[in-house]
Amino acid sequence: MARTLPDHEACGHTLYRLSCDQYESLLAESGRGCQICGLPSSEMPDGKLYIDHGGAPGNWPVRGLLCISCNSRLKHGMAFSPKAGRYLEDAWYARQCRQLGISIDGRPEPPAGTAVQDNFGNFWVKELSFWQQIRPNKAGRKNAYAWTGLNALCGPFNLHPVDCLGNVTLPLGDLEAVAHALRERLPAELMHHLGRLLQSQNHLSVN
Ligand SMILES: [Zn+2]
Ligand SMILES: [Zn+2]
Repeated sequence: MARTLPDHEACGHTLYRLSCDQYESLLAESGRGCQICGLPSSEMPDGKLYIDHGGAPGNWPVRGLLCISCNSRLKHGMAFSPKAGRYLEDAWYARQCRQLGISIDGRPEPPAGTAVQDNFGNFWVKELSFWQQIRPNKAGRKNAYAWTGLNALCGPFNLHPVDCLGNVTLPLGDLEAVAHALRERLPAELMHHLGRLLQSQNHLSVN
């Protein structure tokens, strides 16, 4: 999708756990105007609407895009007009969950040895009772979360079970880390897919 400035300046939307594509679809949905009063984004001080979130813990429960005034009037989550009420009832994050048929508490936890991919392209693998991010963080340690913690961090609709690696886009440059972390933790069929992908890109063998 087209990534326009100033909306993607430093991709501040990622603070709200929105990928560039998700943010673009929100922009398109809003028609680049406040979703309550309609004020165009061009009339905002820095040309951008506020990303409004709330209704559940974490930054990911994004309700929509608002002007400064409507955003501050919604601080306490109370509808101040019929339009604001309709906006709150049609929150973006709740709609994402509904479309996937999952509750805002997330899917049932997948079993140990399986992997999920988040909306930023990271892979998480379940070891014993914790979900480990495949790529170690900058401190050299791995991030690890319980399923509820991972859902609270990423947002339930942003966690997608990896059923077949042939259907997901592996992050280029991270392939070796992915292969290392997935080795012996995924069913043979998935490792076969990963091996073919790596070979086709002249990376290491995973056997
Ligand atoms: Zn962006
Ligand atoms: Zn407004």
